[in-house]
Amino acid sequence: MSLTKKIIIALIVGIIVGLGFNVFAPNAFVPIDTYALTPLGQLFLKLITMLVVPLVFFSIVLGTAGVGDPKKLGRIGSRTVIFFLITTAIALIIALSLAYVIQPGQPGLMGEEEQEYTPSEAPPVMETFLNMIPSNPVAAMASGDMLQIIVFAVFVGLALANLGDKTKGVLKLVEQGNDIMMYLVTVAMKFAPIGAFALIASALGKLGLDALSSMAMYVVTIVLALFVHSIVTYGGAIALLAKMNPIQFFKGFFPAMTVAFSTSSSNATLPVSMKTAQENLGVSKQVSSFVQPLGATINMDGTAIMQGVATIFIAQVFGVDLTMGDLVMVVITATLASIGTAGVPGVGMIMLAMVLQSVGLPVEGIALVLAVDRILDMLRTAVNITGDAAAAVIIDRSEQKRLEKAGS
Ligand code: ASP
Repeated sequence: MSLTKKIIIALIVGIIVGLGFNVFAPNAFVPIDTYALTPLGQLFLKLITMLVVPLVFFSIVLGTAGVGDPKKLGRIGSRTVIFFLITTAIALIIALSLAYVIQPGQPGLMGEEEQEYTPSEAPPVMETFLNMIPSNPVAAMASGDMLQIIVFAVFVGLALANLGDKTKGVLKLVEQGNDIMMYLVTVAMKFAPIGAFALIASALGKLGLDALSSMAMYVVTIVLALFVHSIVTYGGAIALLAKMNPIQFFKGFFPAMTVAFSTSSSNATLPVSMKTAQENLGVSKQVSSFVQPLGATINMDGTAIMQGVATIFIAQVFGVDLTMGDLVMVVITATLASIGTAGVPGVGMIMLAMVLQSVGLPVEGIALVLAVDRILDMLRTAVNITGDAAAAVIIDRSEQKRLEKAGS
C-alpha cells in the first residue's frame, strides 16, 4: 500500500477514534491522550521538525549557488513574491465575499463574556522587514528564525557562486548535507501514518462535535473558501501558467497536504513538501529550494482566508458594519499579516489581532473563534503549502521555457 493511502486511512481512523472518545468515553480520553496520542503525535512532529533548519540552510545555499547569476536570482525571487502577494489578495477576496453571502455570525450569537482571550502583541510590519537580516546567523538557526536563515543562506550561496573553484569543497559539503536531510525525510515519513492518526485523534478528541456544531457556519465558510481558492486560484493558475493538468498537480502533491493537515505547521512540513514537489511534480531542485522555504515562511493564503472570515464573523457578532474602505484595509493588513505569520501551529490567530485592530474591532473577539481554530489550522496549513507548491511549479516551468528559448 502506498504511503498516501496509509496516511489517509490513518486520518479516517483518527477522526473516528477522536470523536468516538469525545462522545462516548470523555473520561477515558484524557489518559489516552496524555500517555499515547499526544506523545505519538509529538514524536512524528519532532522527527520532521528536526530536519527543517539544516534542510532550509543547505537547500537554499545550494539553490543560490546553483543559480549563481544574481539577475536570475532576482527574477525568480521577485516573480515568487508577486505570485504570493496576488494569490493572497485573491484568497482574501474569496473569503470576504463568501463571509458576506453566508453571514456566519449574528449579533449575540454566543455569550461574548463567557470566554477570555489576552491578545499577544503582533509585531509591526517594518520590524518584520528589518528583522530579516540576522545580527547573528547562529542565533537565527538556534531559534529557528526562518526568514533570517533564508537571508543568510542566500548570502552564503552567492559567495560560493562568486568564489567558484576556491570553495568547491564547501559546496560539496553542502550538497551532501542536503542529501542526508532528504534521506532522513524519507525515514521520518515511514512514521507519518501513526503520527497523523495520533495528531487528528488528539485534536478532535479535545474539540468534540458540540464545539464544532455551534460554530458550524463559521467553519463551513472557511472550509468553502479554502476549497474554492485551492481549486479555482491554484488549479486555474497551474492550468493557465504552467500548462499542467490541475488534477495531476493535486494528486501529486497530496501526500504533503496530508502531512500539513496532521502537523498544522508549514515549517515542519517543508522537508516533505519540497521532496514531494521535486519527485512528484518534477520541480527542479533549484527552484524548489527557493520558492518553497520562502513560501512556507511568508505565503499563507489559508491563514489569510481564516483571518478574513474571522474578521467579518466578529464584526457581525459585535454588530459592527464594515465599510468598503474597511474591507480594503482587511485585504491589505491580512496580506501583510500572512507575511509575518510564522509557519507553526496557531500563529495565524495571533496575527488576527493586527487585522482586527486595523478596522477598530475588539481584539477580544478572538475568543469567539478560538475553540475551533485547532481544526481549522490543520486545513489552512494544507492550503498554505499548496500555494507554495503551485508557485514552485509555475516558476519552474517558466524558467524551463526560458532555457528552451535560449537554446533554440
Ligand atoms: N499553522 C499555519 C502554518 O503553519 C499558520 C497559522 O495559520 O497559524 O502554515
